[in-house]
Formats: sequence, structure tokens, C-alpha cells
Amino acid sequence: MSDLRELYQQLILDHSKKPRNFRKLEGANRTADGHNPLCGDEITLYLQVEDDVIRGIGFQGSGCAISRASASMMTDSVKGKTRAEAQRLFERFHDLVTGENEGRDPADLGKLAVFSGVKEFPVRVKCATLSWHTLRAALEGKGETVSTE
Ligand code: ZN
Repeated sequence: MSDLRELYQQLILDHSKKPRNFRKLEGANRTADGHNPLCGDEITLYLQVEDDVIRGIGFQGSGCAISRASASMMTDSVKGKTRAEAQRLFERFHDLVTGENEGRDPADLGKLAVFSGVKEFPVRVKCATLSWHTLRAALEGKGETVSTE
């Protein structure tokens, strides 16, 4: 288990140092802002949605390693997915980091499973889920700032 944990930490570190899709997306037709006042994490998410599919995605912002790595992996994970698929992934991810539905196989989460350790640090759950809450707001097109509080 400790080897696995180390691998997870390396992945999170890698994504936090070199976040994927870290840019303002030209041609975005949906955006949303997210804020986690508990930690100071901020994110602006840009989506290009066509025919209910997330064709393009990018984000900007600042925050802790967990929030950056989570946003980076979230954007990688939902690109090319439909709105419903992205929503299902969010629910699975949320269960993972909050420790709900423990018995379920995290394999379908792919590399997002690296965040399973977050459930041991409740204060970090909001860091890990901020980008996902922001994604949902962008998909719903509410155009308001999401706060984890
Ligand atoms: Zn944070």
C-alpha cells in the first residue's frame, strides 16, 4: 500500500507542478468561477460544449497542490465526455474523496483514484472537489461564482 501511496503522491505532485489544460480556452462558450475560502483556492473554468459534449476545456487560477492537481486531472478526464457522463464521474469522484460507498471499485475512475487518500484529510476534500463543483456550474450555465462554503 505504501508503494501505491507514493505513486499517487508523485502523480498529484506532477499535475500540480505541470497542470494540463492550464490556459484560457479560446472559443469557450461556458465559463464559471470557483472559490474555496477555506484554503484560498481559486479557479476559472472554460468549456467549449457542442451537442452536449465537452469538446474543449481549460482552466486558470491559483491554489494549493491538491486543487491544482485535481483541476488538471478533472479537465483531462472529462474532455470528450457528455454532460451526463461528466456528472456521473463527479458523483463517483465525490464518493471517493468523502469515503462514501467504500465498497465500490475505483478502477472506473482511472487515474482519478489517486485522490482516494484525500478522505483521510477532510479539510482537503473541498480543495479536491472545487474544480468539479465549478465544472457543474459551468455545465448548468448559471454564470455565478461557486463557493465551497
Ligand atoms: Zn486547497
